[in-house]
Amino acid sequence: MIEVENPATGEIVGRVPRLGAAELAELAARGRAAQPDWAAAGFAGRAAVIRRAQKWMLDHADRVIETVVSETGKTWEDAQLTDFGYTVVALGFWAKQAARYLADERVPSRQSPLTLGKRLVVRYEPVGLVGVIGPWNFPIVNSFGDCIPALMAGNSVILKPSEVTPLSALLMAEMLGECGLPAGVFGVATGDAATGAALIDHVDCVMFTGSTRTGRAVARAAAERLIPCHLELGGKDAMIVCADADVARAANAAAYYSMNNAGQVCISIERAYVEAPVYDEFVQRVADTVRGLRQGPPEGAGSVDVGAIIFPPQLDVVDEHVRDAVAKGARVLTGGHRRAGAGSFYEPTVVVDVDHSMELMREETFGPTLPIMKVADTEEAIRLANDSPYGLQASVWTRDLARGEALARRLEVGAVCINDAQLNYSVLGLPMGGWKDSGIGTRHGAGGIRKYCRTQSLLITRFALDREPFMFPYRRATTRALGLFFRALYGRGRRG
Ligand code: NAD
Repeated sequence: MIEVENPATGEIVGRVPRLGAAELAELAARGRAAQPDWAAAGFAGRAAVIRRAQKWMLDHADRVIETVVSETGKTWEDAQLTDFGYTVVALGFWAKQAARYLADERVPSRQSPLTLGKRLVVRYEPVGLVGVIGPWNFPIVNSFGDCIPALMAGNSVILKPSEVTPLSALLMAEMLGECGLPAGVFGVATGDAATGAALIDHVDCVMFTGSTRTGRAVARAAAERLIPCHLELGGKDAMIVCADADVARAANAAAYYSMNNAGQVCISIERAYVEAPVYDEFVQRVADTVRGLRQGPPEGAGSVDVGAIIFPPQLDVVDEHVRDAVAKGARVLTGGHRRAGAGSFYEPTVVVDVDHSMELMREETFGPTLPIMKVADTEEAIRLANDSPYGLQASVWTRDLARGEALARRLEVGAVCINDAQLNYSVLGLPMGGWKDSGIGTRHGAGGIRKYCRTQSLLITRFALDREPFMFPYRRATTRALGLFFRALYGRGRRG
């Protein structure tokens, strides 16, 4: 059994089994047996279940939020806005949009002279059994959230939640059961890394969210089985503050988007580059705001601003990054230590006089820290922002929107917000995924559901000719004519 601990208090809040190979095989067999009927239920039949789940979430909001808070030690507001709020929206979104994204598509037959007059169709078939493996920072959003489009596409799903935060996933299974999901379609495989690795042996597709290191292991295992894998990995999101920015807005956002969820957001602002003319004002404002944040075990709504470090060993990473920066000459303006007393907390921390020799500017810290670096101009900011193995997201802050967009297009990341951050994640029609070491593939949008499908192309010939003109015995004449036709169509002089 795995003991689940509330990191804010140290209290044991649950125990879950560590599933082994035999139990996984059984879950997979149940999923495979149930999948054909679930697929046959059609979009309307599946949407009915998913919409009931949306209502269930709203009816059980307090229980959902309390469960997330109990196993993460995050603030009530963090759980409400993300794990609860995102999921309510996502259930409605996929229930409505799945049919549109997965509708048959027609391809024009004139794309080849050989197929003129034929019907060409692209269609999407569920892969069958999807394995979703999730991290601990958002036990519903980044785990169950990815199961919703997989289910709406007509798949069975096995979710392997993080061993640190499995209770929320079990609650989601209870919800789907009460909302009429047929038995076997959704299973939760509680367990640790070994359970996650074993799951890959049973499924037709893997959706993984977690660290870059584990992502590589998952990709290797999926490659061995030749099954698709989609990877949403770590990040080191840069914020670029231009001299013409609304400094008050940028500073408030910097404090918020680096400290929400105690910095344990893949798209957290992890480093800021600020043009020299507004640097002092920006730093002053951020430090003042962060100094005023209340931290401690959450005791209901509004009780604290910054919650716990969910996985206590992560405290060592955060502390190591700050110590390394200080040893290399950085200055801590506020915070900079583990919080004394019970629970797993790191003080909200603002650091200046940083550079790229420091882990704090290069590695994913995943804690409530914001290092701020002064830059001479936006050229230097772009160069430094791109000087990273990661490429998840970034933000640009300027009153000149055209310039902001031009800068955004030069950033080597999967998403850029201008005068905002993180909010793109809440728009489910907008693809989200990392470049470089931050992942492969995207979630959300059409690609966010088609990835759980196999594509099938159909070529349908309507005419009752007994043979095509390029077949025997006409081949010699028609292929010569076709050659002339191709030369006329694509030859030099027409299309260059
Ligand atoms: P992790 O990589 O340690 O673990 C993630 C999951 O993988 C867990 O369920 C774990 O049990 C499982 N696992 C571990 N080894 C495995 C293996 N060999 N095969 C299969 N599964 C295995 O990540 P974490 O520490 O739980 O999460 C934090 C990380 O997740 C951060 O790097 C964060 O940036 C990233 N993250 C990314 C996104 C995104 O959308 N890009 C979102 C949230 C979190």
